[in-house]
Amino acid sequence: MKSERIYLDNAATTRLRPEAAAAVREAEAEYNPSSLHSEGRRARAALDAARELVATSIGAKRNEIVFTASGTESDNLALLGVARTGRPGAHVVTTAIEHHAVLGALARLGEESFETTVLPVDSGGRVDPEEFESALRPSTVLASVMYANNEVGTIQPIAQLAAIARRRGVWFHTDAVQAGNWLSLDVETLGVDLLTLSAHKFGGPRGVGLLYARSDVALSPILYGGGQELGRRSGTQNLPGIAGMARALGLAQSERIANARRAGELRDRLEAGIQAAVSDVRVNGAAPRLPNHLNVSFAGTDAAALLIALDLAGIAVSAGSACTSGSLEASHVLRAMGLDERWRTGAIRFTLGVTTSASEIDRVVAALPSIVAGLRAPATLLRGDG
Ligand code: PLP
Repeated sequence: MKSERIYLDNAATTRLRPEAAAAVREAEAEYNPSSLHSEGRRARAALDAARELVATSIGAKRNEIVFTASGTESDNLALLGVARTGRPGAHVVTTAIEHHAVLGALARLGEESFETTVLPVDSGGRVDPEEFESALRPSTVLASVMYANNEVGTIQPIAQLAAIARRRGVWFHTDAVQAGNWLSLDVETLGVDLLTLSAHKFGGPRGVGLLYARSDVALSPILYGGGQELGRRSGTQNLPGIAGMARALGLAQSERIANARRAGELRDRLEAGIQAAVSDVRVNGAAPRLPNHLNVSFAGTDAAALLIALDLAGIAVSAGSACTSGSLEASHVLRAMGLDERWRTGAIRFTLGVTTSASEIDRVVAALPSIVAGLRAPATLLRGDG
């Protein structure tokens, strides 16, 4: 009997939830929400309802939600949009383990005569609040620290960092893309001024995201045109995508405590199973970690080869981040954590989903020892270091 495939790459993307798919289909019948006729007003009502649901799910006001086309766009809008309202030469702080959407935008700001600081992390992938505070300058306009890392799952002390930033008069952005299914996104409790989300990471459709921007944050747009989203993001809204995202977010946040407990137990079972069955492994990323994340280095293996062998065995995982068009470039996150090459080259990311089952985890644990052993043997011979 052919067994079902096991999908453990939910940090790359999640399956569209049926409820979100239904919301997408309903909204596909609608027209342009900016039109003044009855069809337009109907679409506007659907857009308003989605905005209301999203705002309620994260404790925000409706006018603080900017719909975008991706997490990448939201991160870019946060960094470029806030910095460009400041004086030239203003200072922006972020960390070495951010997604390339943040690091790329920061690099762009560097080319535009802004001052930038990239904070280091410790070997567990954590940002030190004291180091964060000392990096802030009188000229700092914005700090951006991700809520939970997409490669190793470490969760940063966002409320603490945001409070420091507020005390120092610095706007604080967090990339919360990986958090939607698992952590509270309540912007008041977190104390953040800007927050990025992407629908496809919590059961919504791909190609739609949002930026929460507190009502007193001024944003310079990065797209120019019809002035939608209160002038902050021009372009006709992707109403089906937005409706699907809103439905998925509402469900993800209301189910998150139960889902996190369940995923956490299964992740621990996977972690313990791997530790018991395979020698020479190392778990990357310190606690607290996202409950669905497990990044493991298998010494003496090559992550790409391991990924392919697992794929052939019916198991979908990733080697670090899948966001760079499927490429397997060296992980800037593991490098920032100071891992030496022996551990960096064999790092695999297992990310569970809300429907992952115990029997799937047990199948992965059963399959891994022989797959890893098969890869280790020839590698040792080739290198002649055995
Ligand atoms: N930020 C983080 C932490 C991510 O993991 C990702 C995607 O993997 C993004 C941003 C980009 O989101 P999107 O795929 O919607 O552009």
